[in-house]
Amino acid sequence: MDTYRYIYGPVPSRRLGLSLGVSPIPDNHCSHSCIYCQLGRTRQLSDVREEFYPLEEIEAELDRFFASPKSFDVVTIVGEGEPTLYLKLGELIQAIQKRTDKPVAVITNGSLLYRKDVREEVASADLVLPSIDAMTEEQYRRINRPCRHFSLENHLGGIREFSRTYQGQLWLETMVLKGINDRDEDFLALRDYLANVRYDRLYINTPVRPPAESFVEEPDPERIRSAVEILGGIAINELCTEGFGSDIADDYEAIKSIIKRHPMNQYEVRSFLEGRRVEKPERILDRLNSDQKVLKIEYKNYVTYRLN
Ligand code: SF4
Repeated sequence: MDTYRYIYGPVPSRRLGLSLGVSPIPDNHCSHSCIYCQLGRTRQLSDVREEFYPLEEIEAELDRFFASPKSFDVVTIVGEGEPTLYLKLGELIQAIQKRTDKPVAVITNGSLLYRKDVREEVASADLVLPSIDAMTEEQYRRINRPCRHFSLENHLGGIREFSRTYQGQLWLETMVLKGINDRDEDFLALRDYLANVRYDRLYINTPVRPPAESFVEEPDPERIRSAVEILGGIAINELCTEGFGSDIADDYEAIKSIIKRHPMNQYEVRSFLEGRRVEKPERILDRLNSDQKVLKIEYKNYVTYRLN
């Protein structure tokens, strides 16, 4: 078994099944700093596209990974920040498609889709999942805290423009936050906007994992029902507890490689270890609890682990 720098998982994704992650972006490097981000506050807020890591290096890792058969449903380009900031995203998508028949998905905040070059590159993915959380400029700044010169108009315009020509599956997501964007008028405004967007699915999400800001709260269930009624979307409110995987032999290192990009709660860690037939999972949990580099966050009555 091997260790990987850019590939992680597979991890269970509520929308995508068993998702193998590819991360071409450095830690917390994003064009937004969302108050609900499960990775914590963005440390590097930027809209500059860069080849953060040489594409050849990622390709070499893909070759190594795909040298033996693997079980997963989709390859997802995501990770520790905004993937459209990777300058060679289009080439990366094609490099993955050359090596597997499984669909390639890009999970993006959508903020760079106002740019033609980004739209053209992302268009080669089989699935694109952008986010729309705000319907007013004030909400956009409050929820997504974008790069200063970004505007909601560009954000919405970029997604709409992309939807006009994109041939793959476009799955939109909106994060509903208590007291911030959970009124009927927010949902109605989103519905009006969506009337001019060609999309395949809309997911209504809530902050199920510990958010970057402690004041962020889950909306009342009645608000989610109302969102579903008005928008006709699919509510993602079931917590996944199974399905994490890793190719890394060492159990502790395997967990660390996952929680660097995807926080896991105590039940998910235990289930992951049991799946690997670890005899005493509590030893690993103790180690996580005493590891200074691992953040322990109490949220919704259980502990979630995240590597900073
Ligand atoms: S939720 Fe996504 S878009 Fe928002 S700050 Fe985190 S990584 Fe960036």
